[in-house]
Amino acid sequence: MASEYLDYLFEDVIVTESNAPRFVLDGVEVDIWNGDLSHYHSLSVADYIREGLLRFEKKGIDPFPEIIGKKPEKEMLKNALMSGSNILFKGMKGYGKTTFSKSIAKLLPERILAIKGCKINDDPTRPVCFSCKKAVMEEEKVELTWVGRKWVRILGDPMMTTRQLIGGLSIQKIREGYDIDSPEVFTPGRILKAHRGIAYVDELGAIPSAMQTLLHELLEEKQITTPEGDIIPLRIDTIFISSTNPANYRGTSDIKEPLLDRMEEIFIGPPDTLEEEILIGLRNMRLKEGPVLPDWHLRILARTVRLARMNNGGKVASRIEVEPSCRATIKLFDHVKASAMRAGRDVVLFADYGENYENVKLGLRSRLELDYEDVSKDEVISALVEDAINRTSMEIYSRIPRDDFGEIIEEISSLGVIDIERAEFSDKTYLSSFINNLCSSTLEFNSALEILLEALRRCTGVISKIECGKYEYAGKGAIKD
Ligand SMILES: [Zn+2]
Repeated sequence: MASEYLDYLFEDVIVTESNAPRFVLDGVEVDIWNGDLSHYHSLSVADYIREGLLRFEKKGIDPFPEIIGKKPEKEMLKNALMSGSNILFKGMKGYGKTTFSKSIAKLLPERILAIKGCKINDDPTRPVCFSCKKAVMEEEKVELTWVGRKWVRILGDPMMTTRQLIGGLSIQKIREGYDIDSPEVFTPGRILKAHRGIAYVDELGAIPSAMQTLLHELLEEKQITTPEGDIIPLRIDTIFISSTNPANYRGTSDIKEPLLDRMEEIFIGPPDTLEEEILIGLRNMRLKEGPVLPDWHLRILARTVRLARMNNGGKVASRIEVEPSCRATIKLFDHVKASAMRAGRDVVLFADYGENYENVKLGLRSRLELDYEDVSKDEVISALVEDAINRTSMEIYSRIPRDDFGEIIEEISSLGVIDIERAEFSDKTYLSSFINNLCSSTLEFNSALEILLEALRRCTGVISKIECGKYEYAGKGAIKD
């Protein structure tokens, strides 16, 4: 009895206005062909994305505002999507590959029409699954529903099975008389769940190569071979975005060539500038409220992370094999702020780095690997922080007006031992006006005093540090040549 359906199960079924059943949405018969509803079916994911992109293009708006910087990458991506391509994002973790793929999904309409009850949200005019093909061909009335935009993440896993990726599909079971809707006949896997949306395969290279062959068959030939050997057309419609981290595979690509040939590769590297790195950190940190995190600390912490990356050519960077991503920057911002919060301070101070930079180590240790361990990670991290503080100190130092320099030093020398947390000296005009210049809010005053003293100590030696948070004038004799 079931076998009479088999003929059209192997066919592509396309519904037009002339051969369509009556469609019902929310209990009301609707005309999906004319008027408002006509936009929400029959179009492919690539069509919707193209439309979405052109809408942004016309207004001159960036369609991917979630991504900071990365202008050339965005341009390539837009072009690739316009031409309906699948994308492979290549690069280290933590540089926004997932965020990029999610922002692509936002180009899709918020909702589209689907056949009600369909396991893969079939388009009423281009059904893919067994039971919907049957329904539109056999039924006089077909119920529709709205489905939201889809972004389906598939985590690349060496243990992945066909059932997880593609699902269960069996013509044999129909021949044996199973109902066409029964799970034995058809259970969609992750990739079919992405039908009419975005499929994001995180770590494509980790998917076993036999599964990659199935993926290729599905995406390119729009068909699938069942375990029983039946070739079933499955015109699943998705834009396939995948990511790969070359560092995981030590040079050899684990992505099969036929699959690679179906994707446009875009490299996603670290943020190009310190400013972008800082923005990413600020946007993604957890502790957005609470103590103030002044600009110089943002620069020191983001710099510490960036100096650990090869492309920045830092002294110790050549020893680092796995470099820290933006997640390290995000975490460092959070850690120093958490420390200030615990200490009941309004502003982050050097004390929040920890006596031996423990809070920086906390955020970096698990995120970098050394080539071999003749130096400890902790030593490397301390060296990175020192380098970052030195560079940031130079910036602060260069902002001191030459004409005021003598007066500022003299005022400092008259203060004796300076305790950063308790310092108050509103009458000292040159010093306080320079510090106020550094601050973007009055809460930053003590921290600005601290970075100034640290900058003078590091750049001239005229100031000495007694302990964390306590400084004093070391005398002119201490000035470095
Ligand atoms: Zn269906």
